[in-house]
Amino acid sequence: MLTWFCPYCWAEIGERDERCGHCGESLAEYGNLPYADKQMLALRCPTTPTRASAITNLGRMRHYAATETLSRILDEEEDVSLLAAALEALRDIGNDDARDRLLRAADRHGSPVVRRIARSLLEAT
Ligand SMILES: [Zn+2]
Repeated sequence: MLTWFCPYCWAEIGERDERCGHCGESLAEYGNLPYADKQMLALRCPTTPTRASAITNLGRMRHYAATETLSRILDEEEDVSLLAAALEALRDIGNDDARDRLLRAADRHGSPVVRRIARSLLEAT
């Protein structure tokens, strides 16, 4: 049997629930959300592969509105695969703000691995 999760808060829900019993969001309206909004929500998913995929998709879409959130991921995340995905997404978004955040990570991020990845992405552009 499949287990269903709320796409807003990731609590377990029933397959036919119209509203999440935990956060109260309308599950019926989720299907009408733009793809980018669904990807932004997926950044909160507790599973790493789903978050990584959402980060990559937002970068490929050049979703400028994700810049702040991607920058926060760089500040708070510890998983290197997610950090690398966030750096690549900022490179893909490519506007001045995203590039500034990439430069900041290259200069000052607490992890030498992240600084090195950020530098190599900047050198390749
Ligand atoms: Zn919920």
